[in-house]
Amino acid sequence: MSHIYDNIIIGGGPAGLAAALYGGRARMNTLVLERAKYGGQAATTSEMENYPGAIEGGTTELIERMRSQAEEFGAEFIKDEIVDMTLEGDVKTLVGRNGEYQGKTIIIATGANPRLGGFKNEIELRGKGISYCATCDADFFTELDVAVVGGGDSALDEALYLTKFAEKVTVIHRRDEFRANKAVQERVFANDKIDIIWDTVVDEAIDDDGIIGGLKLKNKKTGEESELEVQGCFVFVGFVPNSKLFEGKVEMNERGEIMSDTEMRTNIPGVFVAGDVREKTLRQVITACADGAIASTQSEHYVSNH
Ligand code: NAP
Repeated sequence: MSHIYDNIIIGGGPAGLAAALYGGRARMNTLVLERAKYGGQAATTSEMENYPGAIEGGTTELIERMRSQAEEFGAEFIKDEIVDMTLEGDVKTLVGRNGEYQGKTIIIATGANPRLGGFKNEIELRGKGISYCATCDADFFTELDVAVVGGGDSALDEALYLTKFAEKVTVIHRRDEFRANKAVQERVFANDKIDIIWDTVVDEAIDDDGIIGGLKLKNKKTGEESELEVQGCFVFVGFVPNSKLFEGKVEMNERGEIMSDTEMRTNIPGVFVAGDVREKTLRQVITACADGAIASTQSEHYVSNH
């Protein structure tokens, strides 16, 4: 364990891969640690129309190209899951299931996952009518009927966005008032394309030969069951940043998102953050890559000045 990397990136999604490319090109001795599959959340979608220059062959090929491009510039890739760490001091130590790694700087790029609605067939029909990202998928539902599950800012913001594409948007909320801010609520109430179903949860997404055929609903107050015919269902019930590992080690907000300045610096010198795990508003591949590029550039400045 005598080797000390200039830059260790935890997470091989778009943020981590972009950071690796910038690290490699800056002639930094760069290591990417990924516990499972490269690509993160992006790898769960097959098409990506909102990434400039997105290529035929879809997301899988795009991610592989990102990874091999970083490798060509010297970034090293190891599959391991980090379970503990020491981030203070000039040399940081990461403890993985398979070994220990030391670096002068660390970039946390562990991503986030959408919180699941928890209804039957949700996982099975993901990408087949069920989505967690209107910015990514709204276009596929042009002139179709869609549902939005949730009552927070994301659900209502995205419901409004979806009205630009869908024929009708039905918001399904488990209570009789929204959590979202009042301004967005007023816009939702005033929008003719939006219907609201209160006090109701989704029990099941109907599987119609491998695609969504509608939703089975249940009113929580009356117990009444009903069906809603939709061709799409967008679930916005919050998201979970993959930051548990860093609790007590770097500063986070109350939702567990890691705080940074605009240069991706955390409160710990030499520790940077990039992508969906950090506090930000737009969680997309393009913003993750931008974060990764900034974090790696700052990491290079940090190494040069220490
Ligand atoms: P959120 O504020 O936590 O709202 C989650 C919503 O989903 C709530 O309405 C909640 O219902 C509902 N919900 C949770 N679990 C559910 C389940 N299993 N089944 C059905 N419904 C469920 O999450 P968010 O909307 O993603 O926002 C996250 C944070 O980002 C918030 O602080 C938000 O203000 C912020 N944000 C801000 C903006 C903006 O300012 N434009 C945009 C997006 C997000 P209950 O209300 O009954 O708990």
